[in-house]
Amino acid sequence: QTLEQTLRAAIRTIPDYPKPGIQFRDITTLLGDARAFRRSVDELVHPYAGMKVDKIAGIEARGFILGGAMAHQLSSGFIPIRKKGKLPHETVRVAYSLEYGIDEMEMHRDAVKEGEKVILVDDLIATGGTAEGAVKLLRQMGAQIVAACFVIDLPDLGGRAKLEALGVEVNTLIAYE
Ligand code: 5GP
Repeated sequence: QTLEQTLRAAIRTIPDYPKPGIQFRDITTLLGDARAFRRSVDELVHPYAGMKVDKIAGIEARGFILGGAMAHQLSSGFIPIRKKGKLPHETVRVAYSLEYGIDEMEMHRDAVKEGEKVILVDDLIATGGTAEGAVKLLRQMGAQIVAACFVIDLPDLGGRAKLEALGVEVNTLIAYE
């Protein structure tokens, strides 16, 4: 099976979730499929094999699952980027745009040191608003962003282009119209 076939078979589409007209790409079925999960993580880390990556930054919540596995495979540390109010120590915070309105995300101020090489990960990129917020936080603390990676790209929503315009390399495994 090609990567494309494996992923398409393992990702479930939920029509009209969380609201009418949205086709939600559900990766819990991929995570529950041992081969598809392993293959996804292998493909996500592949471009960085042999590279010294200091940390993987995962976006709450599905980015934690993929990011933890990537960090293990690359022998890197892990940084959680969370919705506001969840982290116990001193944080840096950024507002980011959602489809309707804005929200805020944070990370610990001491999570990354100046010049550290960081890979950002989430399950899916749509408009890129969430990932853009994470890039801002990481760069604010002096991180050198090696790349941002996602299992799923929704290219029609322009997220990849938005990140590339910020000078971030983007790697994704599968695209849905
Ligand atoms: P963006 O900020 O790029 O517009 O939206 C991406 C964020 O929303 C990611 O954190 C992603 O997990 C979540 N998201 C939006 N649509 C979907 C979807 O169809 N499936 C999944 N799994 N996550 C989604």
